Amino acid sequence: MFDKVINGVRALFDEPVGLIPLHAPWFDEEDERAVADVVRTTFVSSVGPDITAFEEDMVLRTGAAGCVAVVNGTSALHMSLLLSGCRSGDLVITQAFTFIATANAIAYTGAEPVFIDIDRATLGLSPSAMRNWLERECRRTEGGCRHIASGRTIRACVPMHTFGLVLDIKGIVEVCHHWGIAVIEDAAEALGSTTEGRHAGTFGHIGTLSFNGNKIITCGGGGAMLFNDPELAKRAKHLTTQAKVPHPWAFAHDALGYNYRLPNLNAALLRSQLRKLDHNIATKRDLHGRYGQLFAGTPWQLVEEAPGTHSNYWLNAVIMGDRAERDAFLQACADGGIQARPAWELGHEQPMYAHAMHDGLEVSRHIQDRLVNLPSSAKPARR
Ligand SMILES: *Cc1c(COP(=O)(O)O)cnc(C)c1O
Repeated sequence: MFDKVINGVRALFDEPVGLIPLHAPWFDEEDERAVADVVRTTFVSSVGPDITAFEEDMVLRTGAAGCVAVVNGTSALHMSLLLSGCRSGDLVITQAFTFIATANAIAYTGAEPVFIDIDRATLGLSPSAMRNWLERECRRTEGGCRHIASGRTIRACVPMHTFGLVLDIKGIVEVCHHWGIAVIEDAAEALGSTTEGRHAGTFGHIGTLSFNGNKIITCGGGGAMLFNDPELAKRAKHLTTQAKVPHPWAFAHDALGYNYRLPNLNAALLRSQLRKLDHNIATKRDLHGRYGQLFAGTPWQLVEEAPGTHSNYWLNAVIMGDRAERDAFLQACADGGIQARPAWELGHEQPMYAHAMHDGLEVSRHIQDRLVNLPSSAKPARR
C-alpha cells in the first residue's frame, strides 16, 4: 500500500526518479527582474517605496485596515504580543500543536504559554477546550482574566491556522471577548485562506504572516502584521523602526524600539511573489484534489478544509492508523526519495516549556502520533 502511494506522489509531480521536496519555492523571470531592478536603485535596505507599496497591496488583498511588513513571522508575533500588553509574568493561551515560533514569541515578552487542545476538524485551537479550561481555572476580574491558582493574568490568545486550514476563529474570538483576552492570529501558513470570504488573520486584534522560504509565497525571509485598528498599525510601524521620532536630521527615540522592518530588497521580491498567490493557491487546491483521489482507496484520511472555509492547502496532511504506521510510512518515503515529515513535537514536550500549563492535549497527542505532511510545492503550470 505504501508503494502505491509513493508511486502516486511521483505521478502527481511528474517526477519518476528525482527527490521530491516537501515544499520548494518557485520564482520566474518577473521575480528576477524585480530583484535586479531594486538593486539598481540602491534602495535595498530599510527605506524604499516597495515596503509601503507591499503594505498597501496586502491591505487590498486581505481587507485589513492596516498592514506592517517586518523581517519575519516570529518578529511579527513578538511585536503583536508587545502591542497587546504582554509582559513578564503574564500567561498567553496557545496551541501545543504548532511550530515552536508561536510559543517562543510569547516567551520573548517574559510571558508563559498555556497549551490548550486543538479541534480534530481544523487542527486549530479549540474554542470549547479553551472555554472549559478558562471556566475551570480562571476568573473574570476588573483587570482582565485572572488565573486563580497563580494569580496571573491571561493577557492574550494566539490561535494558529494550521497548514492553511482555517480554524474556528469566530468561536475563539467569542470566547476571548467574553473573558477580556486579546486575540492574535498566527496566520503564518494561511495567506490566501478565508472563512465565509473573510481573510484569515483579520478576525482578531492582530494577525501575523510569514514569507519564509517554505511558505506559500516567499522573499527569503519576511513577515507582516494585519490590523483592524489603523492607529495600532501606526504604533507598530513606529516600534518596528527603532521608535525614531520623525525629523529631518535629529536622532531621537521615544520608546524601546526594534529593528524589525522588512528591507526594501525583500519587499520588491515579495510584491512580485504576491502577484502569484492566486496561481499558487489554484495549483495547491488542484494538487489537494488529486491527493484526495490517491488516498480514496486507502485506510488513511487526507485532512480536508472545514465547511464554510477556503484553505490555501499550503501543506497537505494525511492521518495514518497509529504512530508505528506513521513511522513506517515516513521511512518508506525517505527510502523512496520523497520528503514527507511528521508534525511538530508538542510545545510542552520541548525543554523550554516542560513546566508550562496545559489541558491534557488529548486531540493534539492523537494527531501528533498519526499525521504526515506530504510534498505540496506549487509548481508552475506546465508551459
Ligand atoms: C513559519 C511559521 C512562523 C514563523 O515564521 P518565520 O518567518 O520563520 O519567523 C510562525 N508560526 C508558524 C505557525 C509558522 O509556520
